[in-house]
Amino acid sequence: SYQAMSKQRLLEIRKQICNPMTMKVTYYKEPVFIHQGHMQWLWDMDGKRYLDLFAGVATVSVGHCNPRVTEAAVKQLEHLWHTTAIYIHPQIQEYAEKLASLLPEPLKVVYLTNSGSEANDLAMLMARVHTGNHDVITLRGSYHGGSPLAIGLTSNAAYKYPVASGFGCHNTMCPDVFRGVWGGNQCRDSPVQTIRECSCSPGHCQANGRYIEQMKEMFATTVPNRIAAFFGEPIQGVGGAVQYPKSFLKDTYKLVREKGGICIADEVQTGFGRTGSHFWGFQAHDVMPDIVTMAKGIGNGFPMGAVVTTEEIAGSFAKGVHFNTFGGNPVACAIGSSVLDTIAEDGLQENCAVVGTYLLTELAKLRDKHEIVGDVRGKGLMIGVEMVTDKVSRVPLPKEAMAEIFEDVKDMGVLIGTGGLYGQTFRIKPPMCITKEDVDFFLAVFDQALQNYETRR
Ligand code: PMP
Repeated sequence: SYQAMSKQRLLEIRKQICNPMTMKVTYYKEPVFIHQGHMQWLWDMDGKRYLDLFAGVATVSVGHCNPRVTEAAVKQLEHLWHTTAIYIHPQIQEYAEKLASLLPEPLKVVYLTNSGSEANDLAMLMARVHTGNHDVITLRGSYHGGSPLAIGLTSNAAYKYPVASGFGCHNTMCPDVFRGVWGGNQCRDSPVQTIRECSCSPGHCQANGRYIEQMKEMFATTVPNRIAAFFGEPIQGVGGAVQYPKSFLKDTYKLVREKGGICIADEVQTGFGRTGSHFWGFQAHDVMPDIVTMAKGIGNGFPMGAVVTTEEIAGSFAKGVHFNTFGGNPVACAIGSSVLDTIAEDGLQENCAVVGTYLLTELAKLRDKHEIVGDVRGKGLMIGVEMVTDKVSRVPLPKEAMAEIFEDVKDMGVLIGTGGLYGQTFRIKPPMCITKEDVDFFLAVFDQALQNYETRR
């Protein structure tokens, strides 16, 4: 069995024949050999337990092997795995209705996929078909997928290849008020804000205006007069929990629509209650997208994705035939349905709000205590801790230093993630069922790891 294989052998296979590139993002000097999971906990092959605060990049929403979801999956596995979309199976209809009921009007038509990249590919195609335009805009630092189409949306060189891709894809400045050129020290840094607000002048955020000017400049210079779509994550995930200034998305949606484009919210990381105050990340921005794409948390780790759009856009798209062999298979739908029930019945969105706000507030104290913690931000259980060499220069903490702290946190029993364009941000996006006690444990571990680093320095 795989357990009988030596760690050495497993590592050799991984490095040689099993998508060796991923070793680059496996980060740890001593890789973790994961063996089993239960809710917010993971166990390695030696039986050591970890508190999982990364959840497979915000994917495990209701807990590893959540017994209720496992039961739903097993029940369905015993009945039917697959047919084809040409038959009617109750599971898919029931699930589509349940999912659509969680979105505001007019977002009502559901297409099921198997991943986030696939969902974004489909959304891009829909936008182009519906508008008759080609050009698509994203924000720098964004991650929207690694498939040949979605890689063009992704605006992070680490995930790009020197091949022809991204035809018709353009990016504009990400309004990052911590690291970007505007906002900076003047932006209020209360960690529990919905969005970042700049206090440059009362009631008006200058940073937002400046970044919107950049968007306008891009419209004047880079794209034709009519575009297909804007894709935006409500909070950047891979980018390092980057939050935009107040009204940035609202103003952007307006400009995009003036250019004939539609607006797409990528909720792959922010959806399903993770941000606490709302079920969908876009709702905190007071905008109404034309298409919402989702994946990750939708299936609690089971490969699933979805695109939800309006009847009007679905009508344009119906001029052709779109088919997806595995999208919406009965097993995925049974799991998806059970995930939605679990979020509702276990109050997990509320838990994200309460536990997430507590975590953000306490992390802000660590920011004030440690010179190398530059910024604490996020919402609910979608959190970023940006590390710097010092608070004045804000130079990103070098990779080696990040790795040391990261390794130390792991050795003390907590798994977190890293992200950001320079790998300078710790990412915390745990299963949505974590408790205040878990948070206290992590805070003690993180504080200790920071102290250890500072002592060694
Ligand atoms: N969108 C966002 C915001 C993501 O974070 C990701 C994955 N990191 C994707 C899309 C792509 O999802 P997948 O890996 O399932 O293709």
